[in-house]
Amino acid sequence: MNDRQSIFDAVYKEGSATTPENPEDVRPQHETQMPEGTLYLPVFYDTLKTLAQTVEVDYYLPGCPPEAERIWAAIEAIVAGKLPPRGSVLGLHTTVCDECKRTRHEKKIKKFYRTWQIIPDEETCLLEQGLLCCGIATRAGCGALCPAVNSPCIGCHGGNDGVEDYGARLQSAVASVIDSNDADEIERIIADGIPDPVGTFYRFSLAGSLLRRSKRD
Ligand code: SF4
Ligand code: SF4
Repeated sequence: MNDRQSIFDAVYKEGSATTPENPEDVRPQHETQMPEGTLYLPVFYDTLKTLAQTVEVDYYLPGCPPEAERIWAAIEAIVAGKLPPRGSVLGLHTTVCDECKRTRHEKKIKKFYRTWQIIPDEETCLLEQGLLCCGIATRAGCGALCPAVNSPCIGCHGGNDGVEDYGARLQSAVASVIDSNDADEIERIIADGIPDPVGTFYRFSLAGSLLRRSKRD
């Protein structure tokens, strides 16, 4: 994982893809003095934090964005004075798979596909067809919107109750459906079909995960 220095080097260093010329190695500054006054840019922190790592969060509403039904349910709970303990997720407690109408069989995956590589059939579980659908590890509440339109769930509702690390939970679920006991074959299946595992498994949850930036010399 990258820190501020490596990101700035990749973007602003002379000769980089985005900044072919920067002989004075100008980098973004928080404050810049101009004749008109002081200009400010937001501080680019070295580490990305979750909201809960920064302020105390009263309640979480899952979804990106939360569906109208979830917002309405939260309003009803507030009005009725029936909010759960502070810090709770105001959502359902099952998974997207539980809401999904696709037919399911025993999952045995020999190959993963990117979404642009196949057109899946509209009845069968997308994961069984080799599309990495995150519904198996993702909190319900959307009505399985994405699988309903032939697109795999990407996990925007986050993990279910008791899941400390969503990406690890998803990896565990995916690992259990790969149809091989051979370490080399498993490695090839993952490398061929999931070229960006961190981006795939931690799309919405990296900052809150157990992963930390790799140590540098
Ligand atoms: S398509 Fe996705 S959400 Fe639906 S059953 Fe399969 S894994 Fe679960
Ligand atoms: S199917 Fe998954 S990605 Fe799509 S809205 Fe529901 S939780 Fe979010």
